[in-house]
Amino acid sequence: MSEKFDAIVVGAGPAGTSAAYTMAKAGLNVLLIERGEYPGAKNVMGGVLYRHQMEEMIPEFYKEAPVERPVVEQRFWMLGEDSVFTSGYKGLEWAKEPYNNFTVLRAKFDQWYASKAVEVGALLINETVVTECIVEDNRVIGVRTDRPDGDVYADVVVLADGVNSLLAKSLGFHKEFKPEEVALAVMEVINLPAEKIEDRFNLEPNQGTTIEIFGDATKGALGTGFIYTNKTSINIGVGTTLSGMIKLKLRPYDLLDYLKNHPIVRPLIGGGEPMEYAAHLIPEGGFHSMPKIVGNGVVVVGDAGQMVNSIHREGSNMAMTSGRLAAETIVLAKEANDFSANMLDTYRIRLLESFVGQDLKKYKDATHTFESYPQYFKEYIPMINQAASQFFTVDGIPKREKQKKIFKRLTEGKSKLGMVQDIYRAWKVMK
Ligand code: FAD
Repeated sequence: MSEKFDAIVVGAGPAGTSAAYTMAKAGLNVLLIERGEYPGAKNVMGGVLYRHQMEEMIPEFYKEAPVERPVVEQRFWMLGEDSVFTSGYKGLEWAKEPYNNFTVLRAKFDQWYASKAVEVGALLINETVVTECIVEDNRVIGVRTDRPDGDVYADVVVLADGVNSLLAKSLGFHKEFKPEEVALAVMEVINLPAEKIEDRFNLEPNQGTTIEIFGDATKGALGTGFIYTNKTSINIGVGTTLSGMIKLKLRPYDLLDYLKNHPIVRPLIGGGEPMEYAAHLIPEGGFHSMPKIVGNGVVVVGDAGQMVNSIHREGSNMAMTSGRLAAETIVLAKEANDFSANMLDTYRIRLLESFVGQDLKKYKDATHTFESYPQYFKEYIPMINQAASQFFTVDGIPKREKQKKIFKRLTEGKSKLGMVQDIYRAWKVMK
């Protein structure tokens, strides 16, 4: 393996495959290296794939890609111990072409997506770990792999090796991420017949639902649970920041068990058979935690660059867009025969101008704020459930009196100023 390529991409997740696909399609000689047995073998995702960014890569991909169900409904749950306050949106326009989002199983989807990069000319090598970048004269000139004679050279290396990128770290692009900058998520895929899923979630065949769950799903820690419907299975998972887990002494497996056995959740998954179990980190630090993403002969894309919008659970789409923008810059760099950090910086600038940079900036203080003020998840969600229970109980109390009682109960033992401050703080980080 001592051939020289135009570009080497490390990692065949959505970021790496998007980069490899874009460059190979433009005629570059691209090597895509994946450590898993096949792309997707090691990849974990709750499962919502965003159509828009995927169609920027392959128009009408859904006609051939292994997608599960088009998502027609997004529900949000504020979970109490034996209650739930719900909101959401169901739109049947999302059940028709061109659809909105889809649930996917990454083991199938990533494999298909990487095969499209191969179709346009990328060379994919699986079961190969990149152990380090080869650096000469302050420039990345290739990578070392765990294969015998495993050094490979290229004009540019794209690091798409996912959260906690050891390769970017070894280049000095970032330090070890702190426990508050990453979440640990655990999930299960639970098999259920399609008809059961459709009955329980009020769906027609070929329609899907997503449920994001706040509050009791994480026992009040900053984080979320989720339930997504596939064709004949349900993905259920929960994630919290590592710092939250340490502080509250939570164990991820216990948390998932707790969610699965929650009286509101249990009927949705009851009788199903767990088929897969996975745990994975999610970069949650946002804009403030973004590492350096451009150097001489090297760029960083996707989770490796902390590009996840945890408020909207968007990650795969940011990964795809960053991979594409990096690749488009490399195509220009090839034309100019200039692979300096200066030239490749066009990628960073375009990324910051795109929805990726703008959304990461918009929510730049959200994780830190919600982590520092645990009352949002710990106190307000149970309060909202209590208030709803009182409000919807018909007990002969006139409505005005009831409202007053609810308000009094909600504010009992709380400073009104403190509550106003909490509302203002939340508005400020989310606006
Ligand atoms: P990854 O998908 O992690 O891909 C990295 C690839 O690099 C892997 O294939 C890995 O095997 C390979 N690799 C790593 N190191 C090496 C090496 N040294 N040599 C060779 N190969 C290597 N996002 C959404 O959009 N929607 C969701 O619903 C959603 N839910 C999520 C739920 C969970 C539980 C988790 C953990 C994440 C979720 N995300 C979601 C986030 C999303 O999964 C990521 O943002 C996305 O996968 C990032 O893509 P990536 O290509 O950057 O990294």
